[in-house]
Amino acid sequence: MPPMLIPTHCDACMRAALVAALLVEAGYGRCEGCGAAARVLPGETYGPQDEPLFVALEESVAGAGLTPLHAVHLAVALDGRNTLPGVGLKRLAQMLPSPTILDLLAANDSSAMRKAEGMLVALLEAVAAGRSKSEAVPKVAAAPPSKQGGGSG
Ligand SMILES: [Zn+2]
Repeated sequence: MPPMLIPTHCDACMRAALVAALLVEAGYGRCEGCGAAARVLPGETYGPQDEPLFVALEESVAGAGLTPLHAVHLAVALDGRNTLPGVGLKRLAQMLPSPTILDLLAANDSSAMRKAEGMLVALLEAVAAGRSKSEAVPKVAAAPPSKQGGGSG
């Protein structure tokens, strides 16, 4: 049996990582970076074969330097659990163009895209929750894009 991996987030280094389920106790794992307690992110569990994708997506999100509010907006745009796989990912790629996400879209593998969407929602929600302990997160309405279309073709 392959080990089950659980996504965790370290609030000290603001990084997420997969931790073996055996090492998680009472909702916390240990951050490999700094050794602090890393809280378990709500969502799915993964296997060792998923780790490279998780690491690549985590680097995309961490490297983007998102503010918590920005992360909330991206998570809302991404949340495509009621739509076809890839729809949310495509929306996200417009706001967070990472090579990993663009590769996933190019490969057009619906199970990989669905998995990536689940990982990204967990990663973005971790960023959103990370620094907003006292600030209330405003409700985000599903507003249509406010892009002004110019002339006709
Ligand atoms: Zn850490």
